[in-house]
Parts: sequence; C-alpha cells; structure tokens
Amino acid sequence: MTNHTTTPDASASGQAQDDNRPLVELRHVEKHFGDLHVLKDINLSVRKGEVLVVLGPSGSGKSTMCRTINRLETIDSGSILIDGTPLPQEGRDLTRLRAEVGMVFQQFNLFANKTIIDNVMLAPIKVRKVPRQQAHDEAMELLARVGVDSQASKYPAQLSGGQQQRVAIARALAMHPKVMLFDEPTSALDPEMVNEVLDVMLELASEGMTMICVTHEMGFARKAADRIVFMADGQILETGTPDEFFDHPRTDRAKDFLSKII
Ligand code: ADP
Ligand code: MG
Repeated sequence: MTNHTTTPDASASGQAQDDNRPLVELRHVEKHFGDLHVLKDINLSVRKGEVLVVLGPSGSGKSTMCRTINRLETIDSGSILIDGTPLPQEGRDLTRLRAEVGMVFQQFNLFANKTIIDNVMLAPIKVRKVPRQQAHDEAMELLARVGVDSQASKYPAQLSGGQQQRVAIARALAMHPKVMLFDEPTSALDPEMVNEVLDVMLELASEGMTMICVTHEMGFARKAADRIVFMADGQILETGTPDEFFDHPRTDRAKDFLSKII
C-alpha cells in the first residue's frame, strides 16, 4: 500500500529500483455507468511477482476494475500505470501497453473456428510480429506447460471447459505479458475441472508471474495470494495478507461476506 516508488526517470534508474516499482498502479480511479458509481477512488499498486486476489460480493466492481486495467473499460478520472507508463485512452501506445496485460475471463473466449494451436499463435504473429515457425514452437511449449499440447490440432468445442480455459491461459501467456488478470476463471467450469485450472494458476504464481485474480475459490486465495483486496460497493474496504483477511476481517462487510462463503 505504501509502495509508491515510481520515479519519472525510473527507466534509467537500474534494476534494483525496478523490482520495487509497482507493475500495475491505480491512482484515484473513478468510474460511473450512468448514475451508478461503480469504482470509487480506487488506489492499488501491485509489485512485480506479487499475487493479488480480489474478493467481494457480486456487483462490487471487481470485473470493472479488471477491465479498466487493460482498457476494456475507460475510466472517468484518476490514472492507471502499467510498469510506470500511464495507460492511454487510445492509439498505438494503448495497443502496446495492452499487450503487456494478459487477461483470462470466466467465459474462455477462444476463437471457435480456429484450432487450439492457431488460437495461441494468432496474436503473437499479428501483434508481436513473431515469425510463424517461432510462434508455432512457442505456442506448443505453452500448450505443453498447461498440459493440453496433445489437443493442439483440435477445435475449442472438442475440448472440455477446463482444457479450454487452460488454452486461454496459454494464449494470454503467448503475448509475454508483464501481468496476468484472471476474472473468475473457474466460475463457468464443472466442479471437477476447477482444480486443473487453479493448479496452472498456482504454478504460474510460483514461477513469479505478477497476477491479479478475481475468484471465489477461497482455498486458492489462501494458498496463492500475497495480498487480498476486499471490494464492496465500488470501494476497496480492506487490504491485507490472507491470514489477516480471513482470520481478522475488520469491516462488517467483510465479516458478512466471509460468513456466507466459508
Ligand atoms: P463484480 O465483478 O464485482 O460482480 P461488476 O464490475 O461486474 O461487479 O459490476 C459492478 C456494477 O456495475 C454492477 O452493478 C453491474 O450491474 C454494473 N455494470 C457492469 N458493467 C456494466 C455496463 N457495461 N453498463 C452498466 N452497468 C454495468
Ligand atoms: Mg465479475
């Protein structure tokens, strides 16, 4: 929370400082949908390698906050910085910055008419201009990493939900993002497939990926999170370690939330 070490000349200030600099920073972010005040003075900074889990009741603004971080939603005021660079509202810089933020949604959003391997290769070729063979090799490596390389030439509909979601993770990783956003990635899955996706996420976390995860999986939250952020009514009400949050929630809203899910 107090880690505001961003400096204007951070790019020239060397590795030691870079590791302390927030990779994602939201400053006084405000967002309305018409009359609905959906994000209220959101301040958040996520350091390199940190795993942040966002919890909160339905409708509290968790998805909207995630969507502002890669500019699927605009903000009314405040600012969002990705690795020290303010996220522009549009233009070529937006495309470049957005590529640094991988996102995995509740619905897997794979291209139904493309094979699994093509789903993973597409953006690297189009956006990162990676040569086709290299994109193919990297995609196969990523598919192996999430355990679905044997499905590479199939179409999404031929895979289980858990497999499709693992492909979606591989597809996001193919862009070499600096941070990965997960918005309830297991909520649409049959129960028996939840763990195969959470296991991939846990592995990513242990490899040092910077992650922001919205989830209702409390076991995962306890295990994976460096820090829990609790949102309600568009506000961040609590921030703390998993032990602090789960064992000593401070606000009535958090106590109420926990009493309903545990
Ligand atoms: P959460 O992910 O915590 O469930 P959301 O960010 O999806 O919350 O939604 C927060 C509030 O904003 C909800 O009341 C929701 O109905 C509303 N909302 C979300 N997206 C839109 C939109 N595109 N237009 C209008 N209202 C929206
Ligand atoms: Mg949501």
